[in-house]
Amino acid sequence: MSEHIIKTTCPYCGVGCGVEAVIEDAKAHKIKIQGDKQHPANYGRLCSKGSALADTVSREGRLLYPEIKGRRCGWEQALTHVASGFNDIIAKHGRNAVAFYVSGQLLTEDYYVANKLMKGFIGSANIDTNSRLCMSSAVVGYKRAFGSDTVPGNYQDLELADLLVLVGSNLAWCHPVAFQRIRKAKENNPKLKIVVIDPRDTDSCDLADLHLPLRPGSDVSLFNGLLCYLAENNKLDMDFIEQHTDGFSDTLLSAQSEAGNVRHVAEHCDLPEPDLRQFYSWFAQCDKTVSLYSQGVNQSSAGSDKCNAIINCHLATGRIGKPGAAPFSLTGQPNAMGGREVGGLANTLAAHMELDNPEHVRRLRRFWNSEQVADQPGLKAVELFDAVASGNVKAIWIMATNPVVSLPNADFVKQALQRCDLVVVSDCIASTDTTAWADVKLPAAGWSEKDGTVTNCERRISRQRALFPSSGEARPDWRIICEVAKHMGFDEGFNFNSAAEIFQEHAALSAFENDESHGIRDFNLAGLCGLSERDYARLQPVQWPVTDRSGHGVARLFSDGRFFTPNARANFIPVNWRAPVNAPTAAYPFILNTGRIRDQWHTMTRTGLSARLSSHKPEPFVEIHPKDADRADVVDGGLALLESRWGSMLGRVHVTSKQKMGCLFAPMHWTEQLSRCGRVGATVNPVVDPYSGQPESKHTPVRVSPY
Ligand code: SF4
Repeated sequence: MSEHIIKTTCPYCGVGCGVEAVIEDAKAHKIKIQGDKQHPANYGRLCSKGSALADTVSREGRLLYPEIKGRRCGWEQALTHVASGFNDIIAKHGRNAVAFYVSGQLLTEDYYVANKLMKGFIGSANIDTNSRLCMSSAVVGYKRAFGSDTVPGNYQDLELADLLVLVGSNLAWCHPVAFQRIRKAKENNPKLKIVVIDPRDTDSCDLADLHLPLRPGSDVSLFNGLLCYLAENNKLDMDFIEQHTDGFSDTLLSAQSEAGNVRHVAEHCDLPEPDLRQFYSWFAQCDKTVSLYSQGVNQSSAGSDKCNAIINCHLATGRIGKPGAAPFSLTGQPNAMGGREVGGLANTLAAHMELDNPEHVRRLRRFWNSEQVADQPGLKAVELFDAVASGNVKAIWIMATNPVVSLPNADFVKQALQRCDLVVVSDCIASTDTTAWADVKLPAAGWSEKDGTVTNCERRISRQRALFPSSGEARPDWRIICEVAKHMGFDEGFNFNSAAEIFQEHAALSAFENDESHGIRDFNLAGLCGLSERDYARLQPVQWPVTDRSGHGVARLFSDGRFFTPNARANFIPVNWRAPVNAPTAAYPFILNTGRIRDQWHTMTRTGLSARLSSHKPEPFVEIHPKDADRADVVDGGLALLESRWGSMLGRVHVTSKQKMGCLFAPMHWTEQLSRCGRVGATVNPVVDPYSGQPESKHTPVRVSPY
């Protein structure tokens, strides 16, 4: 049998690495995986998870046939059941009584039609995504500052910078290939300074010239202090501020009223004053600065404000839109960005248009030829499941995600699904903590079977390509959604025959009335409009916007100092520190931080199939500082019970001085199916950022005791 190579992308993190799958035996799903040397995200590099993709393409554990109430049925019966169930509930209780909860694992074409069905034809904005848990605070930060949800820079900037500031990001584990690029950049340029701002001493600190283990939640104070320091030391770019921004004076005054002097900030952030001064001094000196931030910033009740505190410092120094200078939010999932592009969040419309802009709503009505386009925001993830629990949402369709594990207060989510009249789950995995509560299970094609596009952290759109036909009766998500739409009676608008046809419409919408006379929007794929199936099949990785027929994208935005606000000026946003909502108490004295480990992805449905990946951290664990371990009477290697006001979990105790005193860390990956008691989501407080709705998954008061 002759081998052939198919270029695709890794399905895990937002780095979006290009992968070459060498097909050795398609029938046996036998492949070899190598990095794609031409892909600009990784130039051939892969991390442990990407390298192990060949171990994960078996049919083990797959959902292969539709089921209703646990019994296998045909597709027609399942589609009719779902469509009539949704239609009946809408007829009796209104369109806001139904909801979709989708995923950054979906391809952009899947996301596009899901959003079109809910917002465009059902007429409700009750479609939210697990990306709410990952980067919605970053979206708010960008939109408030730039008038658009736009990542200004790219990965090459990491190699061009003189100073890299990692804030709330364990890049070494969560975006490993980006970290590999930084490691290489540091080898090539020993003058490159790296500062890690994180309460934990993570593997990312291995490269750091300075680690600032700040008090959890004090980031806004740290960056307000930096803004004041820059002003006091005449390190502002006054030309840039005056020509291209609004709101600087108020923002500086606000920061000064809070931050005081460096000593005060250091005390507040629980940092040694000389270390904080060192960071401020490096930031002041290095024109080429990239601030990389991730869930440690975003997953907070002040996540949006933390993002703007960082962006304020970049605007104040004009460090944006230039090689080696950007405030750079990293998305967790492979296609969180694609979801943003098509309105996957309950508070946005497709093509980066806004629900609260009547002209945007009218434009979509014209484009989709539907009078039903939603004009009110829908429910964000945590409030959506509250509405399921209260009975206001009576039917929910969960696509490619496992909220019974990943949402905060996860036991409550489970109870909500138990009470819901109709729970539909489309997934490629048969048995998850969420499919356990499904009335209807719809088998979806998995990675290696799906065709479409994804967008990575740096706005780069890449093709994901099928390696094999779908397993069993599984279908691509976009096809399942279109079939349900047609069974609901929405014949027009969902007659797509391929992912390429959906991409054509998606590109056409991005360019529709997107010009000077209608107000230019950031997201524009005019140069990709009308791609033939053949061109789509051959589409090369490209960074949006793509505005001309050359098909070239844009490496950096805002290079001309023009932003997407009505007056083309960026906004400084005055932000002040707010304490995390739930403080430790005598009963719950520790702060629990949750996050990823190096070799697992989400709830391990795929990475858990690889023995070599599972050997890295084989069981749920809790990291604790030695003094705290003494205080709690737990020992290294023993079992500990972790309890919060919301729930509990068990984990193996890892005693380590890398953990800040008073703080614990537990991984997010284990499910009830994998370990009856290792599901950390059950303990996490259901507190959210007031602007983004992103949960505060890194700050839950807990107690710990021997088990
Ligand atoms: Fe690249 Fe992320 Fe996949 Fe690793 S997990 S290969 S860094 S996309």
